[in-house]
Amino acid sequence: MTIRHHPHELHLTQLAAGLLDPALGLVVQAHVDRCPSCEADIEVLTATGGVLLEDLPPTALGEEALAHTLARIDAPEPVFPALPSLRRHRIAGGIWYRPLYHGANGARAYELNVPAGRQMPEHSHSGQEWVCVLQGSFADSTGRYGEGDFVECGAEIEHSPKADADEDCLCLIASTGPMRMRGLVPRAFQLFLRL
Ligand SMILES: [Zn+2]
Repeated sequence: MTIRHHPHELHLTQLAAGLLDPALGLVVQAHVDRCPSCEADIEVLTATGGVLLEDLPPTALGEEALAHTLARIDAPEPVFPALPSLRRHRIAGGIWYRPLYHGANGARAYELNVPAGRQMPEHSHSGQEWVCVLQGSFADSTGRYGEGDFVECGAEIEHSPKADADEDCLCLIASTGPMRMRGLVPRAFQLFLRL
């Protein structure tokens, strides 16, 4: 596995600091889990954050600080609320997707599997779309992406990704807004995909 496409260092910093939206963070973490280079960067960033905290001048805590901290420790983990189903939703042409996360702000994370050689309908995005290739590879107008690669598609990108012919392509995708499909058939496709 040769990884050629990595998240922007700002996104690695945000992941290390726990500041990424959970859906987007899931995709960056999937890349980091497969990329020794970015994993090393995360270790440095985390250590740097710890040193910076240690170097901060002592500050008196408010009276409620301890109670608030204990309450947060006891609170249930809010990051990944349970979805009604984690089953695969099959769509035409052997394409399937599996929803993993749906945040209150509309951000989603899901797996999308596109059979070898099949092409997605042309679309753009109303928000950010971040992708980590988990298996196989695909190409679009911006390049070719293989296992472990991280891809960021902003609202300005219009593309029609096509899985390479030798293997199904499974991606982990996070989006902060719905896709924008052109044409009746693609819009019907989006209706089935609910994305
Ligand atoms: Zn990387």
